[in-house]
Amino acid sequence: MPEGPEIRRAADRVSRVLVGRVVEAARVHLPGLERAGRRLAGKTVSAVDTRGKAMLTRFDNGLTLYSHNQLYGHWYVMKRPRMPRTQRQLRVELHTATHSALLYSATDIEVLTDSQLTRHPFLSRLGPDVMDRALTASQLLERLSRPEFERRRTGSLLLDQGFLAGIGNYLRSEILFVARIHPARRPADLDAHELENLANESIRLARRSYRTGGVTLPPSLERPLKSSGCSFEQRRFHVFGREGRPCHVCGDEIDRQTVSGRNLFLCRRCQPV
Ligand SMILES: [Zn+2]
Repeated sequence: MPEGPEIRRAADRVSRVLVGRVVEAARVHLPGLERAGRRLAGKTVSAVDTRGKAMLTRFDNGLTLYSHNQLYGHWYVMKRPRMPRTQRQLRVELHTATHSALLYSATDIEVLTDSQLTRHPFLSRLGPDVMDRALTASQLLERLSRPEFERRRTGSLLLDQGFLAGIGNYLRSEILFVARIHPARRPADLDAHELENLANESIRLARRSYRTGGVTLPPSLERPLKSSGCSFEQRRFHVFGREGRPCHVCGDEIDRQTVSGRNLFLCRRCQPV
């Protein structure tokens, strides 16, 4: 599933062709949404925002197109009148005079007014957004000390969108590894330095992944792998998807566990219990 950084990058692509432009034709191909979709036609897009893994395309008539990509949703941006060659189901079409922004496969789509947006069941439960530039490590440190979060295992807490929106499965493993924290440990078990590491790395790795298009490894580790011919997938991560392979720091084998129903990768030597 795309995580906060991937959704933000998709929003940037959509934003480049839509923001400040009039949407000449708009269609939503989901039962019950055809009429709402037509109300977006002739309107100007004022912003394309993200909240965690949701995208909000805002129009100057006060309506917002809410979309959550879940596993399979994908935005394409094309020059008109080109359309992508894909077997996916077309769900949303937004056409300006020159470009099209097209959402395929997603089904979690709504057209909302401002007040519906404020009361939205998914959005209103979200914690601060990891991709929000205004979010600081001290705000995260404060959240880590709250009673509702400090007794949760970090391995499950990091996937909880109510704690921090936009962290998904690969970022969870990468953040815990770089902060050297075992997933079974809870914020209440960590010392001040570990808590600071956890807060800092959560923000730093998400932003790095956004800038690099999904690479969390630092350039000092990524570059040698690239020159030795490793594929993109082989040089993205410290631990994620690297079960049985040597840890970049200590050389021990990377291990895999299931935490909150999803695969978590860790180095037992670098992240002791
Ligand atoms: Zn290690």
